Amino acid sequence: MKLDFFRFFSVVIIIAVFSCTQSQASNSGQLAAEQTDVLSRLLNMDEEIHQQPLQSYQQLVSVKNTFSTMPKLQKSWWLLRKAQAENLLYFYEDFNKTVAQAIALIDEKTPLQIQSQLYIYQGLIYRRHAQYADSVLILRKAMSMAKINNLTYLFIIAKQELAFTKSITELYELSLNEMQEAYLDAYSLKAHFLIAVINETYGAIYGYMDDYEKSIEYYQKALKTYERLNYPAHISEAIYGIAITYRYWQKYDLAIRYFELYQEKIAYTPNTEISFFSAYGLGVTLAEKGDCVKAIDVINRALTLNGLIDYNAELYKQQVHCFIILGKLEQAQASLTKAENIFMSLPELVGTKWQLEVIKLGSELAHARNNDSEAFQLSRQYYKKYNKLLVKNSSIRLTTARASMENERKYIEQALTLQRKKVAVLESNSYHQQKLQNLYLLIFMLCAGVIVVIVMTIQYKNNKKMYALSIKDPLSNLYNRRYIFEYLTNYLKDVLIEKTELSVILFDIDDFKAVNDKFGHPVGDTVIKKIADLCHDVFRNEDVIGRVGGEEFLCILPRTDETQCKVIAERFLKKISQQIFLEEPRVQITVSIGIATLSQLSPTSEMLYLHADAALYQAKHNGKNNVVIY
Ligand code: GH3
Ligand code: MG
Ligand code: MG
Repeated sequence: MKLDFFRFFSVVIIIAVFSCTQSQASNSGQLAAEQTDVLSRLLNMDEEIHQQPLQSYQQLVSVKNTFSTMPKLQKSWWLLRKAQAENLLYFYEDFNKTVAQAIALIDEKTPLQIQSQLYIYQGLIYRRHAQYADSVLILRKAMSMAKINNLTYLFIIAKQELAFTKSITELYELSLNEMQEAYLDAYSLKAHFLIAVINETYGAIYGYMDDYEKSIEYYQKALKTYERLNYPAHISEAIYGIAITYRYWQKYDLAIRYFELYQEKIAYTPNTEISFFSAYGLGVTLAEKGDCVKAIDVINRALTLNGLIDYNAELYKQQVHCFIILGKLEQAQASLTKAENIFMSLPELVGTKWQLEVIKLGSELAHARNNDSEAFQLSRQYYKKYNKLLVKNSSIRLTTARASMENERKYIEQALTLQRKKVAVLESNSYHQQKLQNLYLLIFMLCAGVIVVIVMTIQYKNNKKMYALSIKDPLSNLYNRRYIFEYLTNYLKDVLIEKTELSVILFDIDDFKAVNDKFGHPVGDTVIKKIADLCHDVFRNEDVIGRVGGEEFLCILPRTDETQCKVIAERFLKKISQQIFLEEPRVQITVSIGIATLSQLSPTSEMLYLHADAALYQAKHNGKNNVVIY
């Protein structure tokens, strides 16, 4: 994706150049559009430069020859981006030139964002050349410009660079206050990169203040963020800082390990000069560890590299120390003079512990030469000045400033932790609420399910009851006329007549009208009920019996042929006639029975009934209380 965009960028540039050289380019509108694209590409390169400084740099340089044809604004942006990449790649000479070129281009139309960034860069350049006063001035300028124009990000950067510059000249108190402000600004902006940059600077400042534990802690914090952001230059810087602090702390093995890690990480830039820093660190550490033979080697190599002048002073100091140990006093003297000269050329460093150490080394050298009175003089001078410096640095105000700063930071961190806890509580609450809701939903659904089941069961039972009621005759509790005919019709629907045996019995109470008349209707009803009971005694379970008229009953007898049916009918006839329905007054009745059997003659329910009825009619005609087969 990124590469494609690069390609697109290059193509656009080439087209732009081509159009410009043709100069009669007819389509100026298109050109303007392309230039806008290039500009927006330059504007959005920041992250990319941080992550891949070398590739970004190469892309920028690849369009170098179109520089003269670029509109002014584009030129400024291009130079700024190039400077940014060069700075991260330690291409210091190019960086210095690019920044100078860009500053020369500044006019009233140059965006203030570019201007203040360039002034910050200029501040870095001054600082690298140990021109601390100039650095402070221009960083202040960048800072106020950024502040007036609400360029918060640049304002914070400028502020922290200013603080760092001051810390180098041991204006700790001032620098800590400013760092603190920058930290709070960055925190409120939630700018993680800025916070990391500030933490890194805190690491450096605490290192200078000999608070090594804190220094490592802050460097590590910064390193973690840089690693997350994947910014190779910053990762290397933080590792370098850690190595240096371990060195000051005299944890030489850790220092050497981090210097080696630094060497590994720094491979992202092809700049060989950068090996100065790793050689510097390693050389100094070896010297301090007392490994002087190795140290002299590494230091000599470092001095041939194009290092920074105040760093070179440190190297010379270490050489003095090592040469004294190795008994090479002439060489020690030569190195001491070089170190002294460097400090003399850097007024801001006079009186700092670095410069004072030169006096101490002078004393050591005098002692090695057995010139004890000079050694004593120098030593006294050193300790006097050094004590003064210590008193200055550990002044109550400074201690208070440090303490309040730490407290404030802790307060912020605590507030943040509290906020995070609150969020966690809210999250857990909402999780529990969600769980509870789910439980309620489950309970609700279960209840709803149970209710549905209950309702359905009741409904089912009701339906069953209703159905039972709808097919039964309430008086006799036998099937009613509609059901028994339906049953018979359905039964016969799918059967083969030749293969199915079925007979029906139709019986009617003889002279029932007279029973009613004589004993009353209730007695008549009792007789009907009793007949139903007797039916259950005589007929089989599978036989289906229904009341089809007032005192007329139809019985369906499956798997029963005519002969069998006749036997059953006669048994029933006999049973009825012998039954005493009521003792007092004595009520006895008889029935007449007509039988029809399923056959080609009587193939349907209608025909069976018709024929059974005909047989019943015949039975009545025969004098009642008898069975007639149709
Ligand atoms: P037959 O021997 O020719 O059948 O004479 P019958 O008197 O039985 O016949 P009829 O058709 O003349 O009279 C039937 C009587 O049955 C008339 C009615 O009072 C009586 N009956 C019909 N349904 C009921 C009932 O539910 N309860 C009572 N108690 N009597 C009924
Ligand atoms: Mg009758
Ligand atoms: Mg009748």
